[in-house]
Amino acid sequence: MSEKMIAPSDPPIAFHRPAVSDEEIAEVVDTLKSGWLTMGPKTRRFEEEFAARVGAENAVAVASATAGLHLGLDALDLQPGDEVLVPTVTFASTGATVVHAGAKPVLVDCERDTLNFSLEDAERKCTERTRAMVPVHLAGHPCDMDAVADFAAARGLRVMEDAAHALPAAYRGRAIGSISELTVFSFYATKNLTTGEGGMVTTADAELADRIRMRRLHGMSRDAWKRYRAEGSWRYDVAYPGFKYNMTDIAAAIGLVQLGRIDALQARRQAIVDRYRAALADCEEIELPAHREEVDHAWHLFAVRMHHDRLSIHRDQVIEELNARGIGTSVHFIPLHVHSYYREHLGCRDADLPVASEEWERMISLPLYPGLADEEVDRIADTLTDITRRNRR
Ligand SMILES: *Cc1c(COP(=O)(O)O)cnc(C)c1O
Repeated sequence: MSEKMIAPSDPPIAFHRPAVSDEEIAEVVDTLKSGWLTMGPKTRRFEEEFAARVGAENAVAVASATAGLHLGLDALDLQPGDEVLVPTVTFASTGATVVHAGAKPVLVDCERDTLNFSLEDAERKCTERTRAMVPVHLAGHPCDMDAVADFAAARGLRVMEDAAHALPAAYRGRAIGSISELTVFSFYATKNLTTGEGGMVTTADAELADRIRMRRLHGMSRDAWKRYRAEGSWRYDVAYPGFKYNMTDIAAAIGLVQLGRIDALQARRQAIVDRYRAALADCEEIELPAHREEVDHAWHLFAVRMHHDRLSIHRDQVIEELNARGIGTSVHFIPLHVHSYYREHLGCRDADLPVASEEWERMISLPLYPGLADEEVDRIADTLTDITRRNRR
C-alpha cells in the first residue's frame, strides 16, 4: 500500500452520488415546458415501460416506496389486531406503514448469511392473527421466494415484497416485480433508479392494481389528467377516502431516462463489486457480502461485516476512522427492534431477534454507485485494509 492511497489531501469520497446525466435534465425541461407537471402522460408511459421491464401485468407509480407500501397494505383491507410479519433488518417505513394500515408489525429475525428475513423465525412469530408478510430484498439480494411462497400459501398469508433495493434483480431467472401478489420499488435519491422521490407498485392482479390506482389519488374514480382533458367531464366521484400518493410527470421524466440506462448503470455496479471483492479477498478481518447462486443481485449496497474477534476496535471506530480519511459510509440498517418505538410500544427485545442483534453491530456499507471511479474503489479498499491491519487483535 502506498502512502498516496491514504494521503489526507485526497478529496473526500461521498457515500452516494446520484447518476444523473444531461438526458434526465433535458427530459425534465421538456416536461416543464409541456404545460403538464403532475401525473399525466409521462407517468403513464413510465408505468408501461417499467411493467414491461420487470415482467409485471400492472405497475402503479407513486410518490415514494413508503407511499407504495402503505397503499399495498391498505388495499389488503387489514383489520385492527391483524399482524404482519416484517423483518427487523429494514428501513423505518417497512414497519411504520403496517401501523398506518391499522395492523401490528411483528418483527422477524434474519438469516446469518444474506441478512434477509428468516422463515425459521417467521414460523415462530406466526399467530392466528397473522395476515401478511413483507419480505425485504436486503441490499438487492432477493429472498428465497419459492420458500416464501410456500410458507405464505401454507398459512393463507398475503405477500408484499419490499423491493426498494431490488431493481434490477431476479430469483431463479424471474425478475423481482413479477413474482408476488404485490411488489414495491423505491426511486429515492440513493436507490439504483432514481426520480428524486418516487416509487412503483407492481401486481399481476388487475383488480388490486385498480384499487391502488384509485386510492393513490384521493379515492377518486378517475385520474385527474383524464378529468381535465377536453373530452373529460368536470364530474368525479370519491369512492374511498384515498391518499395523495401519485407520482408527478417531472419525476416520471427522470424515471423514463433512468430506466433506459438501467442495464448500463447495473453493469457498472457489478464491476465495482467485482473490484471490491478482488481487493478485499485477503483481508481476514472483514467478511464480504453473501451472494447465492440462484439470484441476480441488484447490488444496491455493498455491506461488509467486521470480524470483531480478530480486531481490537469496534465497527463504530472503523466508521470514524474511514470518515477521518475522507470516506463516507453508512449502516443498513439499525434494526427496527433497536429503536425506541418498537421497544416501548411493541415490547421488542434483543433476545427475541438474536441474529440481527449481533449482526447489525458488525455492518458497514461502503460507497457503491455507478459514478464511483476505479481509483476510488481501490482507495476505499486499501484504506479499510490499512485500518484493520493496524488494529489486528
Ligand atoms: C428506501 C427504502 C424504503 C423507502 O423508500 P422511499 O421511496 O424513500 O419511501 C423502504 N424500504 C427500504 C428497505 C428502503 O431501503
